[in-house]
Amino acid sequence: MTDARTLIVPHADVEQLLPMPACIDVMADALAATARGDALLPLRQVLRLHSGRDAFAVMPAILGSAIGAKVIAVFPGNDATPYESHMGVILYFDDTHGRLLAIIDASSVTAIRTAAVSGLATRLLAVPNASRLAILGAGVQAMTHLEAMMAVRPIRELRIWSRGEARRDQLAAWGRTRFGIDIVPCDSAEEAVRDAQVICTVTASRDPVLHGRWVAPGAHINAVGASIASARELDTEAVVQARLYVDRRESAMHEAGDFLIPRAEEAIDNSHIVGELGELVLCSVAGRSDDRERTIFKSLGLAVEDVASARFIYQQALATGAGTWLELGGLRPAT
Ligand code: NDP
Repeated sequence: MTDARTLIVPHADVEQLLPMPACIDVMADALAATARGDALLPLRQVLRLHSGRDAFAVMPAILGSAIGAKVIAVFPGNDATPYESHMGVILYFDDTHGRLLAIIDASSVTAIRTAAVSGLATRLLAVPNASRLAILGAGVQAMTHLEAMMAVRPIRELRIWSRGEARRDQLAAWGRTRFGIDIVPCDSAEEAVRDAQVICTVTASRDPVLHGRWVAPGAHINAVGASIASARELDTEAVVQARLYVDRRESAMHEAGDFLIPRAEEAIDNSHIVGELGELVLCSVAGRSDDRERTIFKSLGLAVEDVASARFIYQQALATGAGTWLELGGLRPAT
């Protein structure tokens, strides 16, 4: 049957259609496929705006039969406004006629899939009985990261640090209600991470918020907030002393200040990257070797994560009737 309709999936529907535990499994499959060579993805195209801080990015990928691209504006200064700092859409196409199957809210997908990838890294790298979590940052990613960590480890205590007291208190109140765990807002990042077994850095800081000397033996770190070559959340010591895993080597070599700045200081070289997360899923690289080793997952965010999420959301929407259909065009004119 000829169908020229496109499904529009707004923020609230994405939250229903892409639950965290399912998304973690979708990310495992997508990253494994990427590591096997079943994906096409160039480095993202990022246009810096006149402010020098804000950016407009296009992230295309083909993952098996799934074709798509995320188009997103990144405005870090929005953390002081009612708007999210990442806003845009994911465009999802079919590979038979090239039809635009869906337009999906990207803020929600980015919030969920990024945390899901950190959840996957934590499942693969953190000590199995990790119960003490620290989160640095209290924005959108902090919320979804708490949800992801709760999904993969028996977390009983969370310490949160962010610059603004009000926001960290709000996150603590939300987390206590949602998960019923002990949550302590902290005045310093050092106080938050001391003794933590899992640490998530999810700030928009360009300079280190986490110092290696504070990180306990055995801790696993998800370093998520810095996505450009000139910014980092971890100091050199934190990176040098840990086994380092990335979402993709090529992206890390171009975009990960957390890796590139210590490398420029000659504290590490390329061999410091042990492997990609997808390789860990495939068991083609080794993971943690003992309970005292420190591990880092450096997240940059990949277009395959967005396209895999879009495919899953589209299938779930078809099954549940979610979303709204729109005729945008695409049929040949009648002759
Ligand atoms: P939000 O705007 O919701 O929150 C930003 C947080 O960063 C706030 O807690 C804010 O602190 C804190 N912050 C901002 N500037 C600084 C600073 N100079 N020092 C310390 N803390 C700071 O953003 P998101 O939660 O959506 O994203 C967080 C980070 O993650 C961003 O940098 C974003 O670009 C990155 N990101 C990475 C992705 C990936 O795939 N790796 C995907 C999506 C986002 P306060 O609460 O005190 O105001």
